[in-house]
Amino acid sequence: MSLKTVQDGLALEGQTCMGCSACYNICPTGAMKMGLNEQGFSVCSIDRSVCISCGKCAGICPQINPAFDNDHTPHCYAVRSNDPIIGEGPFGGVLSLLCGKVISQGGFLCGPMFDPNLNVKFKLTTDASELKRIKDTRYTPNDLGNIHKEIKEKVESNKLVLFIGNPCQIAGVRNFIGKNNNLITIDLLCEGLPSKGIFKQYLNETSEGKKITDIQFHPAAQPRNNIG
Ligand code: SF4
Ligand code: SF4
Repeated sequence: MSLKTVQDGLALEGQTCMGCSACYNICPTGAMKMGLNEQGFSVCSIDRSVCISCGKCAGICPQINPAFDNDHTPHCYAVRSNDPIIGEGPFGGVLSLLCGKVISQGGFLCGPMFDPNLNVKFKLTTDASELKRIKDTRYTPNDLGNIHKEIKEKVESNKLVLFIGNPCQIAGVRNFIGKNNNLITIDLLCEGLPSKGIFKQYLNETSEGKKITDIQFHPAAQPRNNIG
């Protein structure tokens, strides 16, 4: 049965939107919008006045069409960088090594980063030093924006892209891109991103009206929030 829209498919499967933004990126008419639900989580909605019921959104949604091609007996490796500084990190420096390798081959790093207004947006970069910003923001509610289209353009131009995100985001990106060996993804054992609405409320309450200039989730010897 062909589905007219992603909403029909979600209802049929008894699923809910997880905000991966794949449908937003594939919609040919701009009918698909991303917004927040009443609990402050990112979800899509359709402007019916411009929807042409093409079904592309339903076809790409990982909640309706999950693509499981995981190996049941995966290869597992224990890795730690020889570099005494980067090997001390919480992941043994593996992210830094992979990131450096991809960028040295002319590829791109892609992940969530704070913008100057402390909104978290996915971005492509060739600057390896931005990995630190991605590490700092991986657990923060974020906007994927048009990143699926930007990644597609890169990998189809034979550029490597190392995408660091949450499992639901990776599922959406992989459904959008299809099979392409230029896309490398790194996820994490996720317990769910917090609500964007609650996160903003938390910042408002803790800053007590002062301007927040930086947020760190893994501070070593630094203060948790810098409030100026
Ligand atoms: S135009 Fe197509 S892709 Fe966009 S919302 Fe309607 S059915 Fe979905
Ligand atoms: S593609 Fe992603 S954003 Fe769109 S309905 Fe499915 S889960 Fe939600």
